[in-house]
Formats: sequence, C-alpha cells, structure tokens
Amino acid sequence: LHQFLHGNESASSSSKSSLPSILLAGPSGAGKTALLTLFEKRAGRSTASPSNADSSNDKTTATATATEPALTHTSQTPVSVELNAASWSSTADHQDRKPKKFLLIDTPGHPKLRSTALSRLLPLDPKTGRPLPPGKTQPVIKGVLFLLDASTLSPSSPDSSLSQAATYLYDVLLALQHRYSRHSKGSKHPPSIPVLVAANKLDLFTSLPPSLVKKELEAEIGRIRVSRSKALLDSGAREDAVDEKEEGDDWLGEYGSERFDFRQMLEFDIEVEVVGGSVVGGEGPGVDGWWRWVVERV
Ligand code: GDP
Repeated sequence: LHQFLHGNESASSSSKSSLPSILLAGPSGAGKTALLTLFEKRAGRSTASPSNADSSNDKTTATATATEPALTHTSQTPVSVELNAASWSSTADHQDRKPKKFLLIDTPGHPKLRSTALSRLLPLDPKTGRPLPPGKTQPVIKGVLFLLDASTLSPSSPDSSLSQAATYLYDVLLALQHRYSRHSKGSKHPPSIPVLVAANKLDLFTSLPPSLVKKELEAEIGRIRVSRSKALLDSGAREDAVDEKEEGDDWLGEYGSERFDFRQMLEFDIEVEVVGGSVVGGEGPGVDGWWRWVVERV
C-alpha cells in the first residue's frame, strides 16, 4: 500500500503542482484540520497526499486512501487536498462556472514546525539568503488562509492565544514582505499573495468579533515589532551578517511607524483581510465567507 500510494503521488505530482494553491496556516488548535475536512467534504475529490517530496510519514500517507474519513492528520508534514471551486453546493453563483481545481495545503501549527509554511512562501537560497526564483515543481501560492481561534484571543482570557497567533502571523507577513522587497534587482516584483485572517470559532460566546480580532492582532504585532528590532540592535550582528540588506528590511510594515496597521502591508503589495467564521457549531456564521475569498483568488 505504501509503495502504491507513493507511486501514485509521484505520477500525479507534476499536474498537481501546477494547480493554483492556497496555503492554510495558523497555530495549533485553530481548527485547520476541521476546516480542511469540511472543505474536502463539500468540494473535494479525496486526494489528500503528502506534498513534501521527502516525506515518508505513514500517518499522512494513510489519508490518501479515498475510504479514510477525510483528514485526521496529526503529522508533521503538510497535507494537500485538491478541491473544486465550482462544487460548493450553497453558492449558486458558482454553478455556471467550469470546474476550477486548486490545492489547499495544510501546514503544521506547532512553533517548531512553522518553517514548513514559511519556506513555502519564501524559499531561500541557503548560500545567499536571497529568495529562490519560483521553482517549476512548487505549486503557485495564490493566497494564505491564516486561521486562528478567536475564542481564546482576548488578552484577558486565561489561556490567551494572542501572543502565539500574532507571533506566527508576524512571521508570515515578514516572509511575504521579504518576498516582495528582496526579489532580484531589475526583475518584476513577484505576484502578490494576499492573506485572509480567518477568525474561527465565532459560535463560542467568548470569541472576539472580527473587528476586535484585527485590533488586538495589530496591537500585538506592533509590540512584537518593537521587541524584535531591539533584539536585532542588541545582537549587533545585523550590519555584518547581510551586507546587501537595506535599512528597515527587517521592520514589518511602514519603517519607523509607531503603530502597526495591516494597511501598511499594502506598500509591499500584501492585502490583509480579517473575516470571521466557524467550522463547527450550528450557531456560528459558518465558512462561506472564507470559501468565497479562496475561490476568488485561485
Ligand atoms: P488544528 O490544530 O488547527 O488542526 O485544529 P483542529 O482542527 O484539530 O481543531 C481544534 C479543536 O477546535 C477541535 O476540537 C475542533 O473540533 C475545534 N473547533 C474547530 N473549529 C471550531 C469552531 O468553529 N467552533 C468550535 N466551537 N470548535 C471548533
């Protein structure tokens, strides 16, 4: 079975990697697995597979069987599902469209494994530290769906997830900013990758509304920005380490600004939107808003 599945994966990898893709990122517990399962149930072809060539993780591989109840992956490798943008039953406006296939690539949320998601956004040349040109074997990322748990985001909640979520989002945005600003001189900027901050679990009464999610994240990212720049200055390694970097290269958003605001990312052609939703729980707003965002981008 193992061999069969791997053979299958490599046979289809060239066609799959050419599909437009959405990267699904966010801290552990945000609901990524639940969302992937729901999307797959409603618009999928049950073709989950390890999207890392070097992966030989049995648990991930097992999800490639069509009989498996969607994705139960707790693995350390990303899983991607092939979805059909036109097959969403509740959105009548998409019914006339031709089937449009795309990949949703799940990535691990554990802090030690986040480089998986970041390296997909900004593959770096290990020698020069500069972004690698888009590889032919890499899927074209059309957007990042950053999922977080809005029910634990309040700074006053006992186990607030604000710092975790904001740190990860900061890293995602900085990777995208570097992707824009560090592209090779003389060439065009790479196509933009917008970010949807999907505030999940709005069915729970403790959850913050999207407007507050945005405010809390911006404030926390502003604090992270200050502490990171202090750390860089203190280390004193900045000047010597990378000679070609321009001033402010490691400062997220508008250089030297006091407050951080997602709109500052527009200067780097990065659109950030915050939209609420819920994957489970009948009382919540559901996932249609996120699905629409995804379908418009692939
Ligand atoms: P992951 O670590 O990001 O993959 O998160 P999971 O998909 O494993 O979800 C973590 C927990 O949150 C699970 O118990 C889910 O059932 C729960 N969960 C996910 N989405 C929602 C939601 O919209 N509302 C509520 N109440 N729980 C959710």
